[in-house]
Amino acid sequence: MKTAAVIGAGFGGLALAIRLQSAGVQTTLFEARDKPGGRAYVYEDAGFIFDAGPTIITDPSSVEELFALSGRKLSDYVELMPITPFYRLCWEDGYSFDYVNEQDELDRQIRAKSPSDVAGYQRFLAYSRELLQEGYVKLGAVPFLSFASMIGAGPALLKLQAWKSVYTKVAEFIKDEQLRQAFSFHSLLVGGNPFATSAIYALIHALERKWGVWFARGGTGALVQAMVKLFEDLGGVIHLNTPVAAIEAEGDRVTGVRLGGGEVLAFDAVASNADVVNTYKKLLSGHPRGRSHGKTLTGKRHSMSLFVIYFGLKTQHPNLAHHTVLFGPRYRELISEIFNGPELSKDFSLYLHAPTRSDPTLAPPGCEAFYVLAPVPHLGSADLDWDVVGPVYRDRILAYLEERYIPGLTADLVTCRIFTPFDFRDQLDAHLGSAFSLEPILTQSAWFRAHNRDDVIKNLYIVGAGTHPGAGVPGVIGSAKATASLMLEDVAAA
Ligand SMILES: Cc1cc2nc3c(=O)[nH]c(=O)nc-3n(C[C@H](O)[C@H](O)[C@H](O)COP(=O)(O)OP(=O)(O)OC[C@H]3O[C@@H](n4cnc5c(N)ncnc54)[C@H](O)[C@@H]3O)c2cc1C
Repeated sequence: MKTAAVIGAGFGGLALAIRLQSAGVQTTLFEARDKPGGRAYVYEDAGFIFDAGPTIITDPSSVEELFALSGRKLSDYVELMPITPFYRLCWEDGYSFDYVNEQDELDRQIRAKSPSDVAGYQRFLAYSRELLQEGYVKLGAVPFLSFASMIGAGPALLKLQAWKSVYTKVAEFIKDEQLRQAFSFHSLLVGGNPFATSAIYALIHALERKWGVWFARGGTGALVQAMVKLFEDLGGVIHLNTPVAAIEAEGDRVTGVRLGGGEVLAFDAVASNADVVNTYKKLLSGHPRGRSHGKTLTGKRHSMSLFVIYFGLKTQHPNLAHHTVLFGPRYRELISEIFNGPELSKDFSLYLHAPTRSDPTLAPPGCEAFYVLAPVPHLGSADLDWDVVGPVYRDRILAYLEERYIPGLTADLVTCRIFTPFDFRDQLDAHLGSAFSLEPILTQSAWFRAHNRDDVIKNLYIVGAGTHPGAGVPGVIGSAKATASLMLEDVAAA
């Protein structure tokens, strides 16, 4: 394999392209949109800079590794800043919990809320650390191509009771309901329902404790730009505004890609970072494998969508933390409605991002940039017309924020835009407008997830949220490592 095409410049596509180019494979990256980053797109409105998607950078070592492959240093390209508290968690009854990395301070807050949970939390942390070792350090970047590889992981999964849900396991260790929420909501960050997704995802807690929570100076977009620059410094080529219309295949081999304009380009291998369902259903619709596997993947469970409001204020709010989770009045019931529809719930739980708390350059002087997101059902669970529902939902959420957390919001508003499940579908070509691709339940994880190398077309590869290990920045960067290992094995064998 001398040449490779990567379709899509999300974190997964970029990380894979860097790995291939670092190993001497001439790699061309095709991105449909006008900017790289995928879900980590950047909006610039009225002097405000808004990261569209990921804001919580965990496991920076996974990114550092990409630069180290060619003897370079991440810190020469972008600065990562540690964030504390990791998150502020707020409930409607006024209770708030600053989730920090200092053990004494964590213990103090847990003791103040529920003294008997201090010991339970310690047991939870030990459990989460074991999960991290088994599920992330050992298996997070290893492709699962055969059922035998899944059986190999079986004893560890059994021992760690991976068939139980995140919430069930947390509840075994912690009694207080608000603390249970505080230590179980994390799977939502990768599209998993804490009441349905495997307890394996409780590893996110130990992952954050081990490596911290970081933010790129200049925003997540600066990290994307750093990866693009690295790829180009290595000799890679990136084409923006260049949607791939089809993956060309003959028999059990791909031969190249066909661009939107009709041009066909030959490559020795093709990797897709585009939505995994649509990779098969649309890009490979001319091949029997595309039609059959596209149908199989369509029938799987897909993670929820998100509704996001990006807004800038002419005032600052120093009392707010960089990351805040605002729990609504209901937890279990609300999450069930988000994952199953069929309606948009009346109440919501929100994540509020205030990046100017760490980096004031993201807004004009004296101003504050925000985004707020609400998890919502995907388009297959709730058949809503977001062109109508969106503006109404935006106003409800902003009124809620103004009443409880950001006084004067409406009067101080300088700029505001929304991103709805329709935008996930139309701008990112996400099946059903899902924000995180296939839902991370046990029966859709590891070998059960779309494989990093296709089973039939041997020089077609998948990278990103839809393949192993799954969504989230460290997840898709891990998927790039798994996929690159297969591609480079295939280079060596050729
Ligand atoms: C609002 C939001 C907040 C999030 N917050 C966090 C967070 O704080 N921390 C975290 O770790 N994770 C977070 N996530 C999850 C994380 O952002 C994603 O899981 C991850 O970025 C997905 O990366 P990916 O490699 O799968 O590619 P994507 O980001 O999905 O990018 C795929 C790219 O492929 C392109 N493409 C699609 N079809 C074609 C085609 N035919 N031709 C060419 N290009 C094509 C798309 O335009 C897109 O650029 C968040 C997600 C969202 C939506």
